[in-house]
Parts: sequence; structure tokens; C-alpha cells
Amino acid sequence: MENHKSYSGIDYFRVISAFLIVAVHTSPLTSISPFGDYILTCILARMAVPFFFMTSGFFLISRYGDRDAKLKKFLKRTTLLYVAAMILYLPLNVYKGDFAADMLLPEIIKDIVFDGTLYHLWYLPASVMGAAIAWVLVRKLDFRKAFTVTVILYIIGLLGDSYYGFAQKLPFLEGFYRELFQIMEHTRNGIFFAPVFFVLGGMIANRPVPASSQGCLAGCVAFAVAMVGEGLILQHFGIPRHDSMYLLLLPVMYCGFTAITFWQGQGPRVWWPGPFALVIYLIHPMVIVMVRMLSQLAGMPLLIQNSLVHYLAVSTASTGFAIAVIVLMKKGKSRHENGSGHPYRAWVEINLEHLEHNVRILQAALPSGCELMAVVKAEGYGHGALAVSSHLNRLGVKDFAVATIDEGIALRRYGIRGEILILGYTHANRAKELHRYHLTQTVIDFNHGLALNRQRIPLKVHLKIDTGMHRLGFSVNNVDEIIKVCGAKFLHIKGIYTHLGVCGSLAAEDKEFTGRQIGSFDHVLHQLAENQIRIPKNHIQSSYGLLNYPQLRCHYVRAGISLYGASASPGTATRLQLDLRPVLSLRTQIVLIRKIAKGESAGYDRAYVADRDSLIAILPVGYADGLPRSLSCGKGKVLIRGCLAPIAGMVCMDQMAVDITDIPQAALGDVVTLIGQDGPAMLTAAEVAKDAGSIANELLSRMGSRLKVIYTGFHQTFLL
Ligand SMILES: *Cc1c(COP(=O)(O)O)cnc(C)c1O
Repeated sequence: MENHKSYSGIDYFRVISAFLIVAVHTSPLTSISPFGDYILTCILARMAVPFFFMTSGFFLISRYGDRDAKLKKFLKRTTLLYVAAMILYLPLNVYKGDFAADMLLPEIIKDIVFDGTLYHLWYLPASVMGAAIAWVLVRKLDFRKAFTVTVILYIIGLLGDSYYGFAQKLPFLEGFYRELFQIMEHTRNGIFFAPVFFVLGGMIANRPVPASSQGCLAGCVAFAVAMVGEGLILQHFGIPRHDSMYLLLLPVMYCGFTAITFWQGQGPRVWWPGPFALVIYLIHPMVIVMVRMLSQLAGMPLLIQNSLVHYLAVSTASTGFAIAVIVLMKKGKSRHENGSGHPYRAWVEINLEHLEHNVRILQAALPSGCELMAVVKAEGYGHGALAVSSHLNRLGVKDFAVATIDEGIALRRYGIRGEILILGYTHANRAKELHRYHLTQTVIDFNHGLALNRQRIPLKVHLKIDTGMHRLGFSVNNVDEIIKVCGAKFLHIKGIYTHLGVCGSLAAEDKEFTGRQIGSFDHVLHQLAENQIRIPKNHIQSSYGLLNYPQLRCHYVRAGISLYGASASPGTATRLQLDLRPVLSLRTQIVLIRKIAKGESAGYDRAYVADRDSLIAILPVGYADGLPRSLSCGKGKVLIRGCLAPIAGMVCMDQMAVDITDIPQAALGDVVTLIGQDGPAMLTAAEVAKDAGSIANELLSRMGSRLKVIYTGFHQTFLL
């Protein structure tokens, strides 16, 4: 977990942005060129705070944070920090005479909620509010609509900020902003300013990676130059009321942030840019005051008279302070970590690098003109459909398959782009939703086709043909029906497909059956062609269809189990042997070790009886987490310190025991691998499934929702 890719670019820019913010509050260039200083601090440095918002959005409101636990933690932590910072700066408030104002209480509330109790602290409430608003919008609508709403908020903010002069010209707007500024000092706050950047950060995390960073970088520079122009023109005509928000700030940030995400590094983290930047941010105003005091007391006027010296003094002192805080934090943390086990009871690790590897391997195995359709039904076979799909989207995968309409809607709401094919049945009365979410529905037979068409809503569909599996699909003997459905006014037939029933087997009889299935599918296509019906896409193969029949020329391969790097059963021979890597590991830890004397029993039904003096370890994971009960009594095994330990007695709903008599070195808190790699040893999903009398597909798709999911392959720790 310590050695994977991290977003080095984001890390470096956290630090750079912190020093830009110090610049905003110290105006370093005034002694040299006030004009230069204006460009730096009132225009260019305005990128710093949005950058922090986007970083948070990137990790929280995206595939990296598809469960809201992380967001809640962020909100809680930021709120606590805000309270601490308010207390820290209270003496300064007193010194400035903030408490002398009349209307004290409303003023204080206004400051706490919108403006920050001291000039730079507005960032913290804005973070909390902006993140919460962005999250709610993305959840309730989707990324695109959330973006539209937040852009509108931003424009309202803009007219109260650097475009205020225009608002003043219109009496109606003028009145609106007059009222607004009763409630808040500025519009650059958690409502009008922050949300759009949180949404943008999340969108960048989820969108396909552009081909190269150069275009983004060039775009960023071009927009930044234009933004300087924008700022100077507005300033020249005296339009701004405040100078935090520019129209071009949005494209600058979008291009710049995208470019930065290309900059990725490898290896363990030796420094902590997030906390470092945060400490600098919080402490520098205090340092400014201290530097002033020092310069007066020690008779060193240069410290404040020369703006550059002043800036350097504040930056250096803040840096020293931040390093001290981090060293202390690290000490405290390592003390805290000693002795405590793993924070999670049982967890699933999803290795996104392996997912990426599998995508590349599968894509390379496809004939030209054939695309990978990623099957992400049933929570992406237990891997988390949202996180997996958005990662695939980023890798350029544009076609997805799900089993149900609700799975499809969830993907769309999460911002997944491209085509989403629903493989299963959907009732015709949900046609409106199919249309609204741009989902493609499988027509499972003639009557289904008629029912969908009767809704009088244009729908994208694929026709399913039953070539012998006798599950879903139009019968191959009834081409007339297929032709009729092709004429249906509201059905846009985008594809036609069939599913193979025994393509996983290379037995002669099974190959013959599969051959007949493929043959009758071709025959249907041929008959349609004779009737001048050409359907744009056709597809036949699932994972094993590709592995055993790689020569077929179709437009898609619907890959499920292979995408996740598993085989259905261990040791199945296939014609194509691909180097696929397992994406999922299931782990837990030893929470109790117990001696059982020879002859004693343990667990339900007294199913385990010790045939010698034994040691058993209790693991906090059970069949409710997806570990089949059929693995009970030694049928299944787990890995501890690279050794196999048989399951002792019955797997319970939430716990189980394993016999560790032969692994005496096993200790409390040891990580236990139920599926996955442990040192040189490996338990594949296929092996575990076989022990349970099933296949990996079932085992993986039943991984319980109670399990903690950890995505590895990209660093995602952060503080700001
Ligand atoms: C689930 C499913 C797939 C994916 O199968 P894998 O064997 O996991 O690759 C493909 N096509 C259809 C119709 C399916 O239902």
C-alpha cells in the first residue's frame, strides 16, 4: 500500500499555492513595482484558493470518494480546524477592536458563517459549505447539471465581485446586491465561489485522461494571460468591488488542474504537502503580526519597509513553524499507531493499477474495430461499480454494460460517459428514464419490443437473439419478428447480440454447440441484410467467448470476469492465455487467538472438534460479508503469514475461526488474506469459489456491502 502512484503535481502545487496566498497578504512586489504586484497578488495568485477547493473536490467528490464517509470526515475536520483557528486568532480580533462594533451578534454570525472571523479564515467555512453544496448537487442531479448550477452561482458571485460595476448599473441588481451585502461582506465565499471548483475537481478526477498534458498546459497559460488582461481592463474602468473572481479563472483552473494531474510520481511519501500547506495557510497572518512586532522591537525597519524582504521573512518563519508542527504530528501519530492493529474489521482492496493493466491486455487482444464493453453489473462484480467505471472512463473505455436500469441510472448520476447497455429486462413504463439517462435497453423479445415502442419515447436499443441458450432473446426461427421490430418508429436499433452458453469449455461437444450458436447468429444477420436491414453493431463474446473464440469479428466484447483479472474456475484451459491480474483482494485480521484442548469442540453445531491440542484464530468476517458458508469445516482456507490455515468449524454470519496450530508464529493483529496475494502465496477467487462449490463470478458479485473498500494504485491521502 505504500508504494504506488501519487499525484506529485497536486502535492507540489499545494505548497506553491500556500506561498501564493502568503503573497496575497504581503504584496511582495510593491517596493519594486506596484503594477507588477497587482498582477501577481490580485490576479494570478487568485488561482491558489480555487486550487485547494479543486484538490478537495478531486479526491472527495469523485471516484476517489464515492462513499460519503470521506466527505463527512473532511467536513468535520475542517469545522474543527476553523473553531481552533478562530480561538487562535481571537486576540487579534480583540486587538483590531472587532468587538466594539454595534450589532455585535449579527456581525459575529455573519463573520463566522461567510466571511471568516479574520480576513484569511473565510477559506475554512467556504470549504465546508462549498464541499457540502457540491456534494448534494452532484448526488441529486449529476455532474453536468451540478456544474451548470454552480456556474450560475459563480456568475452571481462575479457580479458582486470584480464585475460589480455592471451590477450597479442595473437598479434591480443593485438592490439585490445591497441586500446581499447586508448578510455577507463578499461573494467569494462558500455559496457563490467555492462550489464550482469542488465540482470541477470531481469532474477532472472522473473524466477520460486527455492524450497529453501539453494542450492543457498551453490552454492554461493562454487563459491565464487573457485573465491578466481581463483583470487589468476591469481595474482600468474601476469596475471591481473586490478582485477575487474572474470569468477566465474557470478555464484557467480547469486546464491547469488537468495538466497537473499528469504529473505523477512513484514511491512512498516522505513529506506531507497537504498538512504543510494548511499550516502555512493558517499561521501566516499570525507570523505577519509577529514579524511586524519584531521589526519594531528590534529596530529592523527593513523587515517591513521592503516588501520582498517582508514576504521572505514571513514565508521563512511560516515554513519553520509548519515543519515543526508536522514533526510533532508525526511523532504523535507514530506513538498512536504503535500497538494498534488495523483500523478495519475486514476489507476489500481494489487495485486500480491491475484494472488498468487488464484493460490494456484485453484491448490488445481484440481484433481491430472491436471495442471493450466493460461489464460492471452487480457493483462491478463486487469491485464497486462507480469507482471502477469512472476509472475505466478515465482510461478511455466508452462502453459499459449493466444488468438493470437502476444500475445504469446510478452510473449516469455519477457522471459516467459513453454508452451504457442494460443487459436485462426493463419494464416498458420506465422508458422515460431510459431516455432521460441515455441508457441503451436490450429488447428481450418481440412483445417487449412492442411494449417499448408503444411508450412513444425514442429509445436506443440492442436486440438480443436467442441462439440456443434459451434465456433472453428473439428466437432465430422467427426473423419476421426481428424485422418488424426493426421497423418500430420509436426504437433506434443500435446493436444486435447473442450470448454463448458453453464458451468456457473446449470439449468437442461444447465447441460444436458454440459453433452452431455463432452460425445461427450469423444467419440472422444475413437474413436481415437480405431485407436491407443493417444494424450498426453486433456482439457475441463475453470473457470466455474472447478467450476461446478470439477470431470472431464483432464490434464489442462484453468482458466481465476477465476485466477483474479472475477466471471463473481454477485451471480452465483457454485458447488465448492472457496475463490478467486479480484486481480484488479480501482481507481481515486476527482479533483473538484461543487454545482448544484435544477433544474440545468449537463453534455452531460443535462442528469443529480438536483432534490434538490446537490453536484457533478468530476472524471478524462471515457469510454476511460474502464469504460462503459452504467453506466451513476445512473446505476453505485462508492465508496467514504466507501459510494456509484451514477454516475451523462453521463460518458464522459475522465471524469465523481458522486452525493455526501449524502456524505458531501467527499473532494477534496479523492480516489474514481470504482472497488475494500474501507474500509469495496466493488464493485466487477461482480457487476459493471452487472450494465453495461455485465460480468466481458468484463469489465476487456477492462481496457484502458491509466490507470497507480501499482503492489502491493511487495515493489518495490528503488533508486540505
Ligand atoms: C454478465 C454478462 C457478461 C459478462 O460475462 P463474463 O463471463 O463475466 O465476462 C456478458 N454478457 C452478458 C449477456 C452477461 O449477462
